[in-house]
Amino acid sequence: MNKEKSNYQILLLPGDGIGVEVLPQAVRIIRAATEFYDLDIEYSEALVGGCAIDEYGEPLPTATLELAKVADAVLLGAVGGPQWESLPMQQRPERGLLGLRSGLSLFANLRPAMTFPALARSSSLKLDLVSGLDLLIIRELTGGIYFGQPRGVKVNQGVREGINTYVYNEHEISRIARVAFDMARKRRGRLCSVDKANVLEVTQLWRDVVTETHAEYPDVELEHMYVDNAGMQLVRSPKQFDVIVTGNMFGDILSDVAAMLTGSLGMLPSASLDANNKGMYEPVHGSAPDIAGKNLANPLATILSAAMMFRYSLEQPAAADLIEQAVQATLDDGLRTADIYTPGTTKVNTLTMADNVLKNMSNIFQSGLR
Ligand code: NAD
Repeated sequence: MNKEKSNYQILLLPGDGIGVEVLPQAVRIIRAATEFYDLDIEYSEALVGGCAIDEYGEPLPTATLELAKVADAVLLGAVGGPQWESLPMQQRPERGLLGLRSGLSLFANLRPAMTFPALARSSSLKLDLVSGLDLLIIRELTGGIYFGQPRGVKVNQGVREGINTYVYNEHEISRIARVAFDMARKRRGRLCSVDKANVLEVTQLWRDVVTETHAEYPDVELEHMYVDNAGMQLVRSPKQFDVIVTGNMFGDILSDVAAMLTGSLGMLPSASLDANNKGMYEPVHGSAPDIAGKNLANPLATILSAAMMFRYSLEQPAAADLIEQAVQATLDDGLRTADIYTPGTTKVNTLTMADNVLKNMSNIFQSGLR
């Protein structure tokens, strides 16, 4: 994307449940950032997930996908809820997300795990293991065992047999490896590639291709790790990692392990990128039907997803830094939504949390600290 560009199109997909509460708060933050940095953003909005099923009978209407294709970035709240759970698998709200990922060729999923100092005590691990933690997991999102053919369950001589196929070709591997090396280069220069090369031939190929791609990035330090060891190291000593790259299934599992290191689901952003850094940005959490409509949801994961959008798709790192610093300042002020509340801090609702992030953005911007 052109670095000189300052006008962008963003598609907003609030979705279901708390998605419709947290996404507007992130939009307020985006609007403030565009004013500070003199950017021009055009917004469109569409339906995805359960609300699209109710309106159009399908979780990803063609019109939504078409709008997503022309946008520079997509910001999504969450989809799903109990009222759609009895539908057949192919018609459920979550299929809308899968359709967006494949329709936009979003093959690189970025899940940062960062501990905010004010929240380090919420982690299930000891404070010294997680304070200052800042790692990025990059998961291949459109291949591997989740998509390989043949797949299914059949009856073989009266016995039920399930099969899935773990397949990657070298182009898929080098493509995700390049994303990971590029990210490592912009961070602390270290990449750990996770595989199971001692057992699975497909991941021996993964290891070989990542090693070959490393020749293009001599300034990045590369190590390989088996997935069982990586799981253990993530809870033993997570700060040893800078960037981790791995396949779809291992990434799914390891990113949830890493998520727990940071304390709360309500704090975790994510990005899914295509080959041109066009992306879909969304909180890791779901639609939280248990608290939906009550102004209780933590908006910070969605606000931090908006910061990732500024960093990766819009290439406006100063706006991304400002939002992240404002979130940190708000937590330092002691404000907490119910999910991250601890005695001695101030419990606030969705709106008040976002109000305070806005206030801190303005203060930080005007004080010229950044
Ligand atoms: P969930 O993430 O919605 O909720 C899990 C727990 O965390 C709940 O107690 C919820 O109240 C809490 N929580 C989640 N986000 C929060 C926030 N921002 N602030 C405060 N508390 C928060 O997961 P679930 O309950 O397993 O799933 C609910 C629905 O969401 C299901 O229909 C599921 O399929 C869907 N889902 C969607 C996505 C997505 O849209 N990307 C991801 C996961 C689950």
